[in-house]
Amino acid sequence: MVLTKQQNYWQNLAKQFAESEVKPKVNEMEKQGEFPLFFMKKLGELGILGIGFPEKYGGQNADSFSFILAVKEISKVWASLGLSIGAHLLGTNPIYFAGTEEQKKHYLIPLVRGEMLGAFGLTEPSSGSDAASSRTSAVSVNGSYLLNGRKVFTTSASYASTFVVSALTSREKGKKGISAFILERNYPGLMIAKKEEKLGLRASDTSGLILDGCQVPKENLLGLEGDGFRVFLQTLDAGRLGIAGWALGIAEAAFEQMLDWAKKNEVDSGLMDEHEWEAGMIAEAATKLEAALLLAQEACRVKDTGQFYIKEASMAKYFASTLAVEVCDAALKIIGCSALTNDLPVERYFRDAKLGEIGEGTSEIQKLVIAREVLKTSGRLVPA
Ligand SMILES: Cc1cc2nc3c(=O)[nH]c(=O)nc-3n(C[C@H](O)[C@H](O)[C@H](O)COP(=O)(O)OP(=O)(O)OC[C@H]3O[C@@H](n4cnc5c(N)ncnc54)[C@H](O)[C@@H]3O)c2cc1C
Repeated sequence: MVLTKQQNYWQNLAKQFAESEVKPKVNEMEKQGEFPLFFMKKLGELGILGIGFPEKYGGQNADSFSFILAVKEISKVWASLGLSIGAHLLGTNPIYFAGTEEQKKHYLIPLVRGEMLGAFGLTEPSSGSDAASSRTSAVSVNGSYLLNGRKVFTTSASYASTFVVSALTSREKGKKGISAFILERNYPGLMIAKKEEKLGLRASDTSGLILDGCQVPKENLLGLEGDGFRVFLQTLDAGRLGIAGWALGIAEAAFEQMLDWAKKNEVDSGLMDEHEWEAGMIAEAATKLEAALLLAQEACRVKDTGQFYIKEASMAKYFASTLAVEVCDAALKIIGCSALTNDLPVERYFRDAKLGEIGEGTSEIQKLVIAREVLKTSGRLVPA
């Protein structure tokens, strides 16, 4: 794939950082479940967290694909760090999309520079795929909002300085009653709930939020009352592109392990000629990796022209996250039993890759979104 000078710059910077500074620490930190806070700060200093933001907000004014390439390179080395970047952006983008200049000055600039860590609380115990069924409430009382409810699976919650969360300011209005709020970690009534022990991504923190009469100043309403659902959908479109880059990183890493092993053990000995199925797997993975990158590039192109890119983002996320699981599976088959041990990182890639098919909208939900958009543009469905 031909990249621009800017895209090459960000890809190389991220790769160099990941290879030289992150890689030596990955095994130990992942084993201990140690959150990569230090690296997140470093990514802020390097400008990587701010790649897609305007200079006026502390960003680098670069294109969206530069950011995806950087996320890919980092996730290739450490998916837990890549996911922490994704979650930080979920907690940053809504402020960029809907914040006042005052909110941008106060929160967005330090988030873009990595001086603050952001998190995003949309998922609730009874509201995952159907974000519109949120139950957390926000009631306006004497110049503040009082928030009550629970958020679950909030990435980086134990370490975040700010949280963008959804809450209903009007239950009767359904999704048009959902509003967005910026919460600071030390607000009264905000507590961090239990940290989840996960299949993979063990160094990425996944905790919950308890909002028990959490007092939020009126100025921390993000956008207008009832505008939250729209802001969250816009945030998720950008987030899905991030997950596409993240999944591509894992897929590339597993692919390289599989190639290394095949070259060392089978190509020279001629065994590869006998194992046609292995050659088939390599060819299929190589082709799909190229296709996944092109889908992500196209989604970024559409995004940067300012058009809606819902379909493109869902396609990129769906294809790349399915591929990551597929390539990890192929690497396990080709390498065999060594890939099941932690002598090789393939077993970690395999455990980590699964999240891509669930987080930020499951693959089933992506397919619903894609089908709806395709039918809409072909005129066979009247939009709801
Ligand atoms: C590691 C991790 C990190 C996360 N980080 C965050 C975060 O930072 N912030 C946040 O808000 N959330 C976060 N999440 C939550 C994540 O976005 C949700 O898990 C996801 O949206 C799916 O919701 P659910 O798990 O409740 O599944 P459910 O909605 O209960 O779905 C269960 C199954 O039913 C299927 N299904 C549901 N509805 C439909 C439908 N209409 N049509 C067809 N099939 C359907 C789904 O595809 C899935 O297979 C995280 C999750 C994980 C695992």
